[in-house]
Amino acid sequence: MFRCAWCMKKIGDNEPLHAIDVKFAEGIDYSDEEGEIVQVYLNSRQTSVPMIVTTADSEAKKNGQDGLFAVCSKACGEKMKTALTKEIDTFKGFSDMA
Ligand SMILES: [Zn+2]
Repeated sequence: MFRCAWCMKKIGDNEPLHAIDVKFAEGIDYSDEEGEIVQVYLNSRQTSVPMIVTTADSEAKKNGQDGLFAVCSKACGEKMKTALTKEIDTFKGFSDMA
C-alpha cells in the first residue's frame, strides 16, 4: 500500500499508480535503505513526504534513478514536480515514469 507523496491519500492496489523518478543531488545517499520507503523533507512544503528508494540491482537504478515518489494522480504529480524544482539541494533531476 502506497500513499500519494503529495496529498497523502492511500493508493489502493487496484488503482493506477503514477510515479515520478528522481535522481539525488551530490551527497544525498539512502543506500542503507534500498527498497524501503523513507521520509524526505521538502523545504518548500515544510513537511516530509514518503519516497521509495531504488534498489542497487534494479532496472531503475541502471537508468540512473535513485528513488521514486508514488502519486495518486497526474495532478498530484504535476504539483510534486513543481515542488521538486525547488529542492535542488536534494534532487538533481526528475522525470515521469512511463
Ligand atoms: Zn495525490
